[in-house]
Amino acid sequence: MRMRAVGLDFANRRLGERMVPEPPWPGDGEVLLRVRYVGVCGTDRFLAFWEFGAPPPDSDFLILGHEALCEVVEAGRGVANLAPGDLVVPIVRRPCQPPCASCARGRRDLCLTGRYTERGIVGADGYFTEYALDRAEDLIFVPAELADVAILVEPLSVVEKAVETALRLHDDAPRTALVFGAGTIGILAALAFRERGLEVTVCSLEPEDHPRAGWLREAGFTYEQVPTRRTADIVLEAAGPAAAAFAAVRALAPLGVCGILGAASDAAGDFPFRSLLLGNQRVFGSVNASPDAFRRAVEDLARFDRRLLSRLIRRCRFEDYVETILGPAQPAPKPVHVVAEGR
Ligand SMILES: [Zn+2]
Ligand SMILES: [Zn+2]
Repeated sequence: MRMRAVGLDFANRRLGERMVPEPPWPGDGEVLLRVRYVGVCGTDRFLAFWEFGAPPPDSDFLILGHEALCEVVEAGRGVANLAPGDLVVPIVRRPCQPPCASCARGRRDLCLTGRYTERGIVGADGYFTEYALDRAEDLIFVPAELADVAILVEPLSVVEKAVETALRLHDDAPRTALVFGAGTIGILAALAFRERGLEVTVCSLEPEDHPRAGWLREAGFTYEQVPTRRTADIVLEAAGPAAAAFAAVRALAPLGVCGILGAASDAAGDFPFRSLLLGNQRVFGSVNASPDAFRRAVEDLARFDRRLLSRLIRRCRFEDYVETILGPAQPAPKPVHVVAEGR
C-alpha cells in the first residue's frame, strides 16, 4: 500500500507531493501512527529554500513535517504505555549513534556530535504523510481533551526548555519577563512565563492596533511596539533579526538573563560585553527540547488560556502546502494541515 506525502526532492530541488510506501506493521517496541495534524513553521520554510536539511541516507526525498499530532493505530510487543486510539506528539530529534554523553543521559537536545537525526528536518522522514512508525520512547502521550491545540506541543517544548534554563540561570527571584517577537513562539513564551508567576510584556514590530497585539491584551498581557525602554529580569528573543537580539540584551535589568531563541542565520554583530560584566547578566542560546520539556509542554498546554491558544492555529487542507511553506512568512497564526480528522 502507498500513501500521500509532502516533501523535498533533493535531486530536482522541488517541493512536492509523492506516493510513498506505507510503514510496516510495528515490531517490538514500535508504534504505528496515523497522522492527524501537521504544523508548519519557519524551519519548513528554511528547508524548502535549501538552507539546511537532508533526506534519509538511502533516499533523495525528505518527507517534511516535524510538528505533528498522531493517533496510535497499533502498538507492537513490549509497548505497555500506549494503546490504539491514544494521541501522541513525536519528539523531533533522535539520539546520535553510538550515543554521545548527552544522548546517553537522555538529553538528545544537547547532542555533542551533531550526528543526530531530526524527523522532517535532517536524515529522517517527517509526518507530512498519512502514517508513520516510531519507537514508543520517542512519543509523548497527549490527553484527548487537548486534541485541538496539541499541535502546539512541539513549538512549546522549545519554549519550555528556554524558560527552564532562564529561571535556573537567574541569581534571585525574577519578577518580570520581556519577550521580543509576537509570533507563535513569542506568545507561547509569554504564556509560559506568566504560568510561573512573572509579569510579562511582549514587544514586537506589529503596531499597537495589530490583531495579535489585541489578542495579547485581551489575554491580560502588556503589548508594546518596538522600541521599548523597559527592562526586565528575564528577556527572551523570539524574533530573528540581530536588532532584536541587541534590543533584548539592552533590556536586561541587573542580574538579568537573556535567552536567544530566534536568531536568524545572519544575526551577528558587536556585543556590549562591559554592561554584561557590570550588571552580572547572562546570555544563553537554546534550541530543540528534551523529552522532559515535551512533557512539561503537555502539562502547561492544559493550563494556558485556551482562547489565545486557538487563535494561534489556522487549519488548512493537506494540499495547501505550497502556500503555507513557500508563501509569505506568517508568524501567527500557525498553518496546521489537517491530514485525517479524529473519529
Ligand atoms: Zn517547527
Ligand atoms: Zn549525541
